[in-house]
Amino acid sequence: MKTMTLLVLLFASAPVFADARFAPVDITVELKGLPASEVKVLGKLVRAARILDAVFLRQVWSGNEVMLQRLVETHSPLLDDFLLNKGPWNRLDKNAPFVPGAPPKPEPGNFYPPGATKAQVEAWMKTLSPADKERAAGFFTTIRRGTDGKFAIVPYALEYQPELADAATLLSEAAALTTQPTLKTFLARRAAAFASNDYYESDLAWMALDASVEPTIGPYEVYEDEWFNAKAAFEAFIGLRDDVETKKLQRFSAELQGLENALPVEPALRNPKIGALAPIRVINEIYCSGDASHGVQTAAFNLPNDERIEKEKGTKRVMLKNVQEAKFEKVLVPIAQVVLDADARKNVAFDAFFTHILMHELMHGLGPHTLTSDGKPTTVRASLEDAYSAIEEAKADISGLWAMQKLVDKGVIPKAMEKTLYTTFLASAFRSIRFGVSEAHGKGQAMQLNYLVDAGAFVVQKDGTFAVDAAKVKAGVTALTTELLTIEGHGDRARAKALLAKLAVIRPPVQVLLDRLKSVPVDIAPRFTTAATLPQ
Ligand code: ZN
Repeated sequence: MKTMTLLVLLFASAPVFADARFAPVDITVELKGLPASEVKVLGKLVRAARILDAVFLRQVWSGNEVMLQRLVETHSPLLDDFLLNKGPWNRLDKNAPFVPGAPPKPEPGNFYPPGATKAQVEAWMKTLSPADKERAAGFFTTIRRGTDGKFAIVPYALEYQPELADAATLLSEAAALTTQPTLKTFLARRAAAFASNDYYESDLAWMALDASVEPTIGPYEVYEDEWFNAKAAFEAFIGLRDDVETKKLQRFSAELQGLENALPVEPALRNPKIGALAPIRVINEIYCSGDASHGVQTAAFNLPNDERIEKEKGTKRVMLKNVQEAKFEKVLVPIAQVVLDADARKNVAFDAFFTHILMHELMHGLGPHTLTSDGKPTTVRASLEDAYSAIEEAKADISGLWAMQKLVDKGVIPKAMEKTLYTTFLASAFRSIRFGVSEAHGKGQAMQLNYLVDAGAFVVQKDGTFAVDAAKVKAGVTALTTELLTIEGHGDRARAKALLAKLAVIRPPVQVLLDRLKSVPVDIAPRFTTAATLPQ
């Protein structure tokens, strides 16, 4: 049986996971009010996305499809975990195999000739003309062995020809059905790209999408190619624009210059004219597949990766609101039950959580980005070097909280959110540092948590749980915002390093609570219930 057929059969069944760290959850979207034409478009897109799921399985490992078939035929209890991880390796456990007989996860995926070594591929690359070398190292080609035994460059359009032709047909049908011009353009161009192997025009059309249906479908991220991070894996996110959040974003965007002018930092470091915003879209996910759907679920992404488009148009950030909501319910609320004082638990709210995520993104655009060092112009990133990511992520977090309070005071955000804003942030900090402080987000969050504890804004209760001191929290948040903006504005790497060394650590009271979180799910395992109702 073909992989596609297997995946279609499995689509409707309710999964059962051996790995309890993933909480099953229904991913639903309200389709009421969507014209019949666009509902049909969604049906076509989900079908195309499922085809890419089969392609992705093959990209991860050449043995994946045979193993899938075996798991289905033997009614294996590991089947749903296989589908969740897109292969027999647990992505939460550093790719440890969980299906008996599975080899170690192949580092080069299935993008290079079986049996070839990295050194052989590198040596071969050196013999190529500059143009061929560029193609060989490109996003959208595999390297195979020709009939003469020598390495050869194969474009994706050929390598995955049958599947991409089927997917292109569905995209073309969807393009014919939709009444929305920018969607029509994107779908038609992406269908053409599947055949031509040139994705540039369709990436441009994706940047310009302005429609109720927001699809992202194609080859994008390169992490499955652990040799060179060169080969793009297929994925799809099919979603519907969230109009409430889209309006909220527009409202916030109108406030950004005012917020910049009010930043709690020396006036010389404020930007009198902030630049144009990179586009942000908030959607609700109906279906995702392939590289977009394995292990920990994607809740936001930035694309495309084509540097030409990044230079010309920037990138677009897409936030998946209902995925964030599912994570909030299944992971953050249970965390709050453990780490917060009983009274504080009532003050954890999704609206505050999601509004802060939006604000975090917007605040990346505010504050100092360039500065002068020894009379020469430079950037905050270059000046802070290895401390930059943690400081910049923390800046976006804490100044996002500061900005939300400002907007509450101004009446742009409902007054009621003042009550949930800080407690939700506190619970969320535990979620971020739960898996350590080795990467920028975790580091930045631990630093903020400890700073606010030292400022008396967050208080450890007698039973070891945490709570917010409403009388001190605003001053604590403002003071940390000032500190981080000042570090960035002066490019003060020494001060950044000292702050992180002192505060980006797990202190004993926090560790006690982290130990109590062991049974709380790590992430969600989505069931795409709305997608299953769409016309085929
Ligand atoms: Zn960020």
